Amino acid sequence: MEGFVAKANDPRESRTALTPDSAEKLIGLGINLSAEEGLGEKSGYPDRLYAEKGVNLRPDDAALTSADLILGLDIPDAQTVARFKPGSLFVGFLDPFFRTDLLHALARAGVSAISMEMIPRTTLAQKMDVLSSQMNLAGYQAVITGANRLNKALPMMMTPAGTISPCRVFVIGVGVAGLQAIATAKRLGARVEAFDTRPVVEEQVKSLGAKFVKIDLGETTQTDQGYAEELTAEQIALQRRGMAKVCANSDLVITTAKLFGRKAPTLVTREMISGMKPGSVIVDLAAANGGNVEGTLPDREVVLENGVIIVGHGLLEAEVPFHASQVYASNIANLLEHFWDEESKSLHLDMEDVILQGCLLTHGGQIIHPTFKERLAQR
Ligand code: NAD
Repeated sequence: MEGFVAKANDPRESRTALTPDSAEKLIGLGINLSAEEGLGEKSGYPDRLYAEKGVNLRPDDAALTSADLILGLDIPDAQTVARFKPGSLFVGFLDPFFRTDLLHALARAGVSAISMEMIPRTTLAQKMDVLSSQMNLAGYQAVITGANRLNKALPMMMTPAGTISPCRVFVIGVGVAGLQAIATAKRLGARVEAFDTRPVVEEQVKSLGAKFVKIDLGETTQTDQGYAEELTAEQIALQRRGMAKVCANSDLVITTAKLFGRKAPTLVTREMISGMKPGSVIVDLAAANGGNVEGTLPDREVVLENGVIIVGHGLLEAEVPFHASQVYASNIANLLEHFWDEESKSLHLDMEDVILQGCLLTHGGQIIHPTFKERLAQR
């Protein structure tokens, strides 16, 4: 089986879908791997390390067109998809809820496409779960970024010149990124508070030594995958009211509240920001999905008139590309290993497999995933 690992299209992207370690594992299975020179350069993995593991490095991406398996990182463009071999398998990010055009292109090209975002959030699939592996690092990096922009130190310090009080950090949305943000801020000595609409999260927040902000929103629900359901307009208004004072008292606010496959809710309004202290920082991890903060601009830093800084970042995990690539490449290698058939030395896509049913979006020239088939039928 011939595998090709594509370089990212997005110039901001610094991660890679293959590390020398994951290359060793995949070549060990029996996949002939080739990639473009400089594949892991931006993430801290030089060509030499890949060559030592047996990856065939080439000056261009010509091998893409004959590969049976293409591993990618960011969303491929339509021109690249048109170069994929019919019957090949693509594995990577696809942003399927917002990029139905790409699903059509993949189906038309006869490509089987696995969307890494759609891997089910189950214990069995945990080692392939890219949302967890990447958001964990994004949550960490959100605190580091916020700490860098603040004009204050995070921990309490008792010095002969006086006591420095600890910074107050407020984390909104306590999924994978939020939990890591809480843990990181605690390690740096901040006083941390957090809120999520899923009540089950309260215990997790407390176990990390942070305070759970209580806001009574009435009934809130979550999907069978554990994702939060959208709140009503009244609930959002209640939530904003409940959070305004906490935001005003916080030095660093980190928002991570996303709704899977939908635009993120606006939770921190201009009015709430106007009550915050000058020099306070908001890091909005939902910026790429519309943002949790009014006035967020994706991948931009906005300094407001009252001195509050909003950092809108959609790709914070790419700021620690060495580790983000390590875990992403490992997620992919685990997925391929799961579907590997030792006897035939090839991938066996078992259509009865629940992990595959969750993440295989196109196959045999069609969009086959029920969620996207339904969406298209409703149009
Ligand atoms: P996510 O990125 O979709 O959302 C981040 C957080 O924002 C979630 O906790 C969500 O509840 C919260 N949120 C949404 N609307 C909000 C609002 N109005 N106010 C405050 N918070 C709001 O979530 P995620 O990190 O991808 O996690 C999704 C689920 O998957 C969680 O239940 C998590 O425990 C679960 N999970 C399971 C596994 C596993 O079993 N293998 C692995 C990882 C995650």
